[in-house]
Amino acid sequence: MLDRIKKLSLLYAKDNVASRRHLHSHPELSYQEYNTAEFVAEKLKSFGLNPTEGIAGTGVVVLIEGKNPTKKTIALRADMDALPIQEINPVSYKSQNPGVMHACGHDVHTASLLGTAKILSEIKNELEGSVKLIFQPGEEKNPGGASMMIKEGVLDNPKPQAIIGQHVMPLVPVGKVGFREGMYMASSDEIYLTVIGKGGHGAAPELAIDPVVIASHIIIALQQIISRNASPKQPTVLTFGKISAEGATNIIPGEVKIGGTFRALDEQWLEEGLKKIKKMAEGIAESMGGKCEVEISRGYRYLENNPSLTQRLRQAAEEYLGKENVVDIELTLGSEDFAYYSHLIPASFYRLGTRNDAKGITSYVHTPTFDIDETALSIGPGLMAWMVVKELMEK
Ligand SMILES: [Zn+2]
Ligand SMILES: [Zn+2]
Repeated sequence: MLDRIKKLSLLYAKDNVASRRHLHSHPELSYQEYNTAEFVAEKLKSFGLNPTEGIAGTGVVVLIEGKNPTKKTIALRADMDALPIQEINPVSYKSQNPGVMHACGHDVHTASLLGTAKILSEIKNELEGSVKLIFQPGEEKNPGGASMMIKEGVLDNPKPQAIIGQHVMPLVPVGKVGFREGMYMASSDEIYLTVIGKGGHGAAPELAIDPVVIASHIIIALQQIISRNASPKQPTVLTFGKISAEGATNIIPGEVKIGGTFRALDEQWLEEGLKKIKKMAEGIAESMGGKCEVEISRGYRYLENNPSLTQRLRQAAEEYLGKENVVDIELTLGSEDFAYYSHLIPASFYRLGTRNDAKGITSYVHTPTFDIDETALSIGPGLMAWMVVKELMEK
């Protein structure tokens, strides 16, 4: 079976690359993946499968039933959305949608899962159970397509016993895959601060309440929540990447808007940290004569890889690729809406190496030069098929 899947994965590699290039040149933003979903559904139908469309807007789900379809179900997940980035890669499959780019590899995940679907549909009479393939919208944007798909019942009827997700990894060389057991990715909440003062002439600060100075104090002070309140043993981060004050060199503006992200792995600390951020920002503004409105948009939860599932998948990957091509990956404060599945059923999220230094493919995800070594698409589909075949055989 292993050899057969490997052969099929190589045989369909060209189709998978073609799918990826089609998706890459036609990227769609979160929750607007209409053409992508249609493409996915058409492909699945061409494999003789019967997908359900329109779940949580643009989600597509298909069940591949094996010889004992009710014995067990394992879910495989791909995300389909792109990012608001202008691609600058000089490639033939460059994004044709201005300002939108598949810069996180979700085109690769979708094409890879389509490849897996094709392989599984050919060997389905030998599958011990069923495989549920989930193509979800909106990974990149709150509330996360995963949470919406779950609300619409994607984990019911049949309920999968486990779920597997794959993500490209530009830090890992193509040909290798990475695993991590246990805690893997952070929760992520968005913080919006509006610092309100009183605008005025730049030369007469005594007549104004300067929100720029208040905002500056708040930004510096909040970092001390990370350095003085969080345990040094517990990874956490607070970053403000957005600040806008619409004054001028000689005009003190009336307000300043600040936006940032707070990330943590420990849920108790997360709640504590959010309370402290609010209290400190409000207190500083008030003590300086202004006001700070704090709005927190709750994002994804932490992602924990089920240890025994991850061990089994790792072993399957070693069988498929050789031990030398399976690596450990480090904990990251990135976040993923795959986490929502992981809080409900055993889940494992692994990384597909896509880097190639010799070809100059080294850019990180979410950059305008991100690309992959497409050799990964001769590996990903078969590897995932092999993992799920083995997982279905598991008692
Ligand atoms: Zn991303
Ligand atoms: Zn991503």
